[in-house]
Amino acid sequence: MKIDLHCHTTASDGTLTPTELVTRAALQQVAILAITDHDTTDGLPEASAAAKDSGVQLISGVEISTRWQGFEIHIVGLGFDPAHPAMTALLTTQQASREARAVAIGEKLAKRRIEGAYDAAKAKAGGGIVGRGHFARVLVERGVVNQPQAAFDKYLGKGQSAYVATQWCSIAEAVEVIHQAGGVSVLAHPGKYSLSNKWLRKLLNEFQAADGMAMEALGSQQSPDQRRFLLSLAEEHQLLISAGSDFHQPGRWIELGRGLHRPELPGVWHHFGWV
Ligand code: MN
Ligand code: MN
Ligand code: MN
Repeated sequence: MKIDLHCHTTASDGTLTPTELVTRAALQQVAILAITDHDTTDGLPEASAAAKDSGVQLISGVEISTRWQGFEIHIVGLGFDPAHPAMTALLTTQQASREARAVAIGEKLAKRRIEGAYDAAKAKAGGGIVGRGHFARVLVERGVVNQPQAAFDKYLGKGQSAYVATQWCSIAEAVEVIHQAGGVSVLAHPGKYSLSNKWLRKLLNEFQAADGMAMEALGSQQSPDQRRFLLSLAEEHQLLISAGSDFHQPGRWIELGRGLHRPELPGVWHHFGWV
């Protein structure tokens, strides 16, 4: 049974519409799916409609950006009420911060003689939330870099020339709001923050102290060693396990549900009675 509790649609920086994403998940035989767009749940109504009679059990989801010790840390919420006022209020604030960041990134890129990037990124977002992923695609299309990751490494990532530190909420706030709305809080992709093991443990301690419930220990692009390490950290910090591909677009390396089929592990799926 494949479980994928982290992926993106056109409601944020994914390239598939919610309907296309659910259809793809069904083809990949994903049994339990959560769509976790950046700071928005706008894709969920369309996804729910598409999930009916698809064989895919859809769980509500969101990926909230937070600020911690100068790092941008992502907290996934699962199985919450998207209409809960605490959640809608937080996401409205986060979306305003994201828009302000996009404008500032555009200004920084213009100083590097890359003009009009904000408008291009906005067009790419197609009415959805503008994220750094959209800027990355614009930079690839213009031939400034040859792949999205290079856009982060050279321009958009922390410490680079078009990096903008955003006023995100705290980890504790994100966790609290997810719980208020009846959901499970998950520390997203702990291996992707480029933290030393010492800092990673510090982060997990903080997340645990904030009543965080789970961490993504199963991802799509992991070595067996990385996976073992993350599973041991989850156990050490008494956190449930979650699984997610962080799928944004069809490609060679990342696929919905790929490698994510370990329902026997002590996961959020048991907590919710999903399996
Ligand atoms: Mn993204
Ligand atoms: Mn993320
Ligand atoms: Mn993500």
